[in-house]
Amino acid sequence: MRAFFVSVATNGGVVLGRYTVVSTRAKREVLTVHKMLALYCHHFHQHKKQGLCPECHELLAFSERRTQRCIFGENKPVCEKCPTHCYKPSMRNRIRTVMRWAGPRMLLHHPILSIFHMLDKFRPVPDKPTKALRR
Ligand SMILES: [Zn+2]
Repeated sequence: MRAFFVSVATNGGVVLGRYTVVSTRAKREVLTVHKMLALYCHHFHQHKKQGLCPECHELLAFSERRTQRCIFGENKPVCEKCPTHCYKPSMRNRIRTVMRWAGPRMLLHHPILSIFHMLDKFRPVPDKPTKALRR
């Protein structure tokens, strides 16, 4: 994952030059989405096998790409507070449905991830990077 500037990420990750060596937050967010989709898929799609049904897997793959390409890089706010609309509307509606249902259940099933996400909600929403910095 590329970063826009040289800094030490607030989460402890280190940004060297244009490359983020440790992007723990992005990884954790993808993991959180994965866990939420797993809860949702298991409940609504009766997907018994390991992993997700093709539909939920598509949603996860999309979400992962969006997170990795987030224009805010390591300063990424939580998605629900983000001023940009990087999800296409159909995907946005699908992921919101999943998160609304799975959100409260995460505290029970994955309390650590849940607490990290709550802490992330306190992160300030940064200004949008200027066009020149965008990939
Ligand atoms: Zn599913």
